[in-house]
Amino acid sequence: AKTAGGDLAKTFQPSMQAALERRARLEDDLRRALAANQFELHYQPQADFAGRIVGAEALLRWRHPTDGFIAPLDFIGIAERSGLICDIGAWVLQEACRLLAQMAREPGLADLTLSVNVSARQLAEPEFVGQVLQALVTNDTPPQRLHLELTESVLVANVEDTVAKMGALQRMGVRFQLDDFGTGYSSLAYLKRLPLDALKIDRSFVADLLHDPNDFAIARSVITLAGSLGLSTVAEGVETREQHDLLAQLGCPAYQGYYFCRPLPQAAFLDFVRAHQTP
Ligand code: C2E
Ligand code: CA
Ligand code: CA
Ligand code: CA
Repeated sequence: AKTAGGDLAKTFQPSMQAALERRARLEDDLRRALAANQFELHYQPQADFAGRIVGAEALLRWRHPTDGFIAPLDFIGIAERSGLICDIGAWVLQEACRLLAQMAREPGLADLTLSVNVSARQLAEPEFVGQVLQALVTNDTPPQRLHLELTESVLVANVEDTVAKMGALQRMGVRFQLDDFGTGYSSLAYLKRLPLDALKIDRSFVADLLHDPNDFAIARSVITLAGSLGLSTVAEGVETREQHDLLAQLGCPAYQGYYFCRPLPQAAFLDFVRAHQTP
């Protein structure tokens, strides 16, 4: 066993070192990415079950000069640990509010909402509320159209602070959604403490909806629970017609996923929405 462990260590050391080096390099690159204009937002439309678009989720993309597009899961963690997420998050808010204001001026698109992901670290910053207000005011964005998606990790930090910030923004009209609902440790406690407007059913429950009775039971319960709390529900990761139909049957108000549309660059997103909304 001892030799096996030693062999294992030898095998994994170089790849671990490579991973650490890549991390350090990405952090350096990330530091320069904002100034170098390497970030982009893609937008994934969200629809109701009558097939109407109700809004979209803004998803961050990093166009790395040598590595190409890098998915958020490969750099959000680094951005959070290094604190860079606050500047990046401020940029995301600016960009989303700019597009939201543009859509608000276009007949047919004026009612659509945009959801922006906010990380726990970003929300914990004292400047957070000011950053959101600045993005809304400088772009002349209707606050009601901005939805902020929080994950359950926000409560690990400081509940009173989180609730106070959410309240301040909510009084301006901003809405809040709890992302990845059901994947954390104490989802129900979050429901009780946070002033929320909607829940997002995590795609891990949607994936096996048709074949796993537990996932079906969870999805059905979340939709019912949200309804009785006066919250809306958005199902994520809907990939098939069968999943779509079942969620419709369960009374889910809205969904997003590859079945309806993949995340699109801004221009393609606007084309898609205009074509779709035209009667
Ligand atoms: P999320 O908030 O759960 O976002 C949904 C993810 O599911 C997106 O991945 C999206 O592309 C993907 N997705 C959408 N429809 C489907 C589907 O039908 N099937 C499957 N398999 N996947 C689908 P993405 O864009 O790679 O984002 C990953 C995560 O990165 C997000 O998860 C979110 O937590 C984080 N993220 C993205 N943008 C931002 C941002 O601006 N700020 C922060 N703090 N986090 C972000
Ligand atoms: Ca999200
Ligand atoms: Ca999610
Ligand atoms: Ca997720």
